[in-house]
Amino acid sequence: MLLLKNGHVIPGAGAPEQLRADVLIDAGVIRAIGADLTSPEAEVIDVSGHIVMPGLIDTHRHVWQAPLRGVGANMDMPGYFSVVLGRALSGYRPDDAHFATMLGAAEALDAGVTTLFDWSNVTRTAADLDAVASAYRDIGARAVVAQENPVVIDSALVTSARAILGPEYGDWDTSVRQIAEARELGLVTTMHAGGRLTRRLHDAGLLGPDLLWVHMNAVTDDDVKMLVDAGSGISVTPLVEAIMGHGSSPFGMFREAGGRPALGVDVVINAPGDLFEPMRDTLRTFTFASAGSLLDAVTIDAARAIGMQDRIGSLAVGNQADIIVLGGLSHLAGVSECASAVVTCLGRADVDMVLVNGEVVKRDGRLVHADLRSLRETGSGIAKRVLG
Ligand SMILES: [Zn+2]
Repeated sequence: MLLLKNGHVIPGAGAPEQLRADVLIDAGVIRAIGADLTSPEAEVIDVSGHIVMPGLIDTHRHVWQAPLRGVGANMDMPGYFSVVLGRALSGYRPDDAHFATMLGAAEALDAGVTTLFDWSNVTRTAADLDAVASAYRDIGARAVVAQENPVVIDSALVTSARAILGPEYGDWDTSVRQIAEARELGLVTTMHAGGRLTRRLHDAGLLGPDLLWVHMNAVTDDDVKMLVDAGSGISVTPLVEAIMGHGSSPFGMFREAGGRPALGVDVVINAPGDLFEPMRDTLRTFTFASAGSLLDAVTIDAARAIGMQDRIGSLAVGNQADIIVLGGLSHLAGVSECASAVVTCLGRADVDMVLVNGEVVKRDGRLVHADLRSLRETGSGIAKRVLG
């Protein structure tokens, strides 16, 4: 049992900020939020002068690429397909998948990302999948492992989804069958797309809230309306989309149409692994009434996009205790609203504490279950070998 005392709580999901409040956690779940909570059995952690908010959720990341950080800084799409998805991926053994996922998950936690929707190209065999799932359990991160031929996992931290080529990169009939199969299993299906087949998907009755569309840089206003009406998840990864030439971010189009787009990192071969930069990049591209509204795109809207809004994405009684504690605003914490300042001013270095499922995985600025330095050394060995 844990009691976070005297924090400045940003609960998310439209709930007002609480300038001084406590959060009581038991058995992985938020039991109470309010002023002057007491619990004789709880370990008390003083978080005064700190922001307490939901853990960040990345709706699209190829986590296995963590050891390859930076190798694609000048890479176009053909280069990515041949070097990363071709040569490098074919060199990954289950052990590599394990350590690469541990590294990617550790770096995410370090930046306050508590849930990864992991497009796991590396889960080609049962051994690969075991290696990836156990990596998340060892590090203590929450993950949805999206696989081409999904094996249903439903543990406290790790669940499954289906990742398919989709009708733009694959063929239509296969996509229709794959979506139907995932629906039978109750899994989210995710696809990379520009959005140009949205009308056809709509007319075939295929759109729905259990589809997660990634990028969507070619959508028209009509496409956006159909996707918003269907409640489909949208993951915009603005840094990678700009660097690799996918096109401009559609984030503002979806917001203006009443949609709730989410953000993601995608690949760290050419982008940073935190979610603060995608928020700020989105601020540079569109005008929002409040910078703080972008927090939704990495919390509650991200949870909705991956079908987990009933469990994570906001601080509410009964939700899983996925929580981050941020420094850097101690002069404002407890004094005035802080959401916009978090979006405009903070970053990875301000993430002081991270809890996933009620367990402290980062404390006093240091990861509890992972030694980043040794993981990076292992990752460096993987990169040198698989890149030749
Ligand atoms: Zn991707």
